[in-house]
Amino acid sequence: MKKTEDYIREVEKFSAHNYHPLPVVLSTGEGVWVWDVEGNKYMDMLSAYSAVNQGHRHPKIIKALVDQAQKITLTSRAFHNDKMGPFLHKLCGVAGYDKALPMNTGAEAVETAIKAARKWGYLKKGVEENKAEIIVCENNFHGRTTTIISFSTEPQYKFGFGPFTPGFKIIPYNDPEALEKAITPNTVAFLVEPVQGEGGVIVPDEGYYKKIREITKKYNVLLIADEIQTGFGRTGTLFAMDREGVKPDILVVGKALGGGIYPVSAILADDDIMDVFKPGDHGSTFGGNPLASAVGMASLEVILEEKLPERAEELGNYFMEELRKINSPYVKEVRGRGLLVGVEIKKEIATARPFCEKLMRLGILAKETHEQVIRFAPPLIIKKEEIDWALEKIRKVLTEPI
Ligand SMILES: *Cc1c(COP(=O)(O)O)cnc(C)c1O
Repeated sequence: MKKTEDYIREVEKFSAHNYHPLPVVLSTGEGVWVWDVEGNKYMDMLSAYSAVNQGHRHPKIIKALVDQAQKITLTSRAFHNDKMGPFLHKLCGVAGYDKALPMNTGAEAVETAIKAARKWGYLKKGVEENKAEIIVCENNFHGRTTTIISFSTEPQYKFGFGPFTPGFKIIPYNDPEALEKAITPNTVAFLVEPVQGEGGVIVPDEGYYKKIREITKKYNVLLIADEIQTGFGRTGTLFAMDREGVKPDILVVGKALGGGIYPVSAILADDDIMDVFKPGDHGSTFGGNPLASAVGMASLEVILEEKLPERAEELGNYFMEELRKINSPYVKEVRGRGLLVGVEIKKEIATARPFCEKLMRLGILAKETHEQVIRFAPPLIIKKEEIDWALEKIRKVLTEPI
């Protein structure tokens, strides 16, 4: 019988080495649980970077997928399909925007937002052709395309991939004054993550969203929120900026919009921005396809029906409170919002990786981000008893000798 090592050897031989996964080979999943090829059970505390907020194989989303697969799966946008309209209608209603533009992956949606903002700048704001500037933050993560890595501050994401796309300005995160100073007449947008997920679960100060909203309004600059990871309940509200009642001009969503089943992403905006797109300006063969639309619709319904934002808020607060009670010699800080939680390990002692490996042996799958931080982001359907089960193991790992 093929064992874990055999699968890993095979993938090492035939896959590009662009990831460094934990040595576990998963073959089934249900809810918050996953099983490896040898039958070991683990709690999924990563949720595919928040793409599995609804839990693995949510029955309602699986049913939508299977039902739609029996009808039609792909038409391309050369023709209409009967699922995209209802899906986008629902998405716009839920998020509160006039229009949506569907894509597949998060990076594609970020690219779409950049194109929308630039074209809006030229057509509506009157910026001179090819002069548009977009302000972004240090330590950002918005995806892996050539343009997006052009404004990354992570050397590894960029090394060997130049030349880079110009037109971006980098300021510190959580610094409204730096934003105001960086704005010029050519600035068309400020692109920001409400909580920096890949950057190590960095939560900005209270009032940050309000301040950046006021500044961007004052200078007629679009506020683009990349809620690909924070959206759909992860941080305890439907969208992270809802916490301060802030509505960005362009909302970028992905990950959980596909319910962990299918890649579905989109940008949302009101008509004065979205009407810069004319037929032929932008597109995607798979974006808005009937299968994606059916899955997206069901994914949204599950988030609302099962009150996942409220669950994340309540259980996230409980989880963080309990984590802070652990008297660990290794932990520098516990931080987060909702069920997006980071435990930072003291640099002088160790990196986060050995703790993740130890957790794996105890049946918890979590992944380090940015060397020092263990990210805990379970599916939002997790129960309190399941969090307690996890806490027991986490306590052990954070207090025992490494
Ligand atoms: C994951 C992520 C992306 C990229 O999404 P992909 O689907 O991997 O292209 C962009 N922005 C944020 C904040 C993310 O977490």
